Amino acid sequence: MEEEMVQPDDAFKMVYPFDVPGIRAEMERMLNKPKCAAFVKQLLSIVASNAQADNKLVAGGDVLKVFDTVMSQKGLVRANDIQNGADPSGPNLALGNVAKKNARIQVGNYRPGIPVTRADLKAQYLKSDARICLHETLHHCGELVYSDQEFAIAASALNGNNPPLPVPIPNTDMRFIYSQYWDGELRKSYK
Ligand SMILES: [Zn+2]
Repeated sequence: MEEEMVQPDDAFKMVYPFDVPGIRAEMERMLNKPKCAAFVKQLLSIVASNAQADNKLVAGGDVLKVFDTVMSQKGLVRANDIQNGADPSGPNLALGNVAKKNARIQVGNYRPGIPVTRADLKAQYLKSDARICLHETLHHCGELVYSDQEFAIAASALNGNNPPLPVPIPNTDMRFIYSQYWDGELRKSYK
């Protein structure tokens, strides 16, 4: 009997469960890549030194420890899990903060490009979730959360401003533009 395939739209609509140990292991694998480790360390060093005095670096910037801290506070929520307090303002978000002990990571839904088996979907969700959790955990490395703008400025210092830091657009929330910018640099470090 042929396995029933999951359609992309159906995969996207699920409140897909989190494999927390799997996500953590995948983050660890990414952070063990020398290029990723060096990039994250340098990035956090710049962001922490430019941040407001009360926005202190958590756990010395040990990203996995910060992830564990978030898990011990409010943990993960899927972006479409409205019943559990998902925030409709965006797919991937660092909610609350470590200082208030209400740090949470909201993780967006994943849409496969083609119909997939359940096993493929599980593997693809895990990879997507780990990448998002790495980005959002970096936000929570600031006790009061480091912003996408702060990370974008630091990333532009590390890449010699190539590509250039996005220029503010009037009447535009730049958060997601800054987010994409520094996330692109983060991805280059672990690809
Ligand atoms: Zn972000």
